[in-house]
Amino acid sequence: MLVAGNWKMNLGHADAVGLAADVVQVTADATDAVGVAVCPPAVWLDAVAERLRDSGVRLGAQNVHPEESGAFTGEVSPPMLRDLGVHYVIVGHSERRQLFGETSAFAAEKVRSAQAAGLVPILCVGETLDEREAGDAEATVLDQLAASLDGVEAGDLVVAYEPVWAIGTGRTASPEQAQAMHAAIRGALADRFTGGDGIEILYGGSVKPGNAAELFAQPDLDGALVGGASLDAESFAAIVAAA
Ligand code: PEP
Repeated sequence: MLVAGNWKMNLGHADAVGLAADVVQVTADATDAVGVAVCPPAVWLDAVAERLRDSGVRLGAQNVHPEESGAFTGEVSPPMLRDLGVHYVIVGHSERRQLFGETSAFAAEKVRSAQAAGLVPILCVGETLDEREAGDAEATVLDQLAASLDGVEAGDLVVAYEPVWAIGTGRTASPEQAQAMHAAIRGALADRFTGGDGIEILYGGSVKPGNAAELFAQPDLDGALVGGASLDAESFAAIVAAA
């Protein structure tokens, strides 16, 4: 099981460092049994890395550019993240896809270059409400998954199923909806990669202390990518405890 917190574009320097220290403290008894990671804004990665040192909590980034270096103003490369001690990097989050026009092809480039630099991509896929209501949820997610893995060889990878309609809305997929999609994703990964059925598949979308346990009870849920609730150390710890 892996529980990763996506802090998004929140927290100033002092609050980010403080939250990192709190997360280390409140998850200390759990990190032998459950993977725990936090993904702060890029500008605080270095400071948060310092707070996570010698703890069981891993560092993740929220985004990366596929090129190693060059004229890409404002971007951060995989080797730069690696130099900071980053372990995971979120790729293809629906906010990147919807607000910044990022395509699955671009996500696939990021997955490939992140893996080449020794980072573990957390690849996000998910359908919109319209796609679900039209009965197209599974086809949409599996198409997105295949396109976002174009040219990707077996390697360290985590997949996060994040229905767009559940992100930051307070509306969570039911355990049955999540399980059905996770099983479909697992099948696709098993077809795509040798040993692909062992790839961790996280659920994301309004996970909270009150709904985490029933989600984690589903056989194909291997943890969660947590947005809003990861900004409160006690709530995050309760989700880790449920895992
Ligand atoms: C996310 O942004 O990845 C997410 C799951 O957010 P929230 O938990 O706030 O829905």
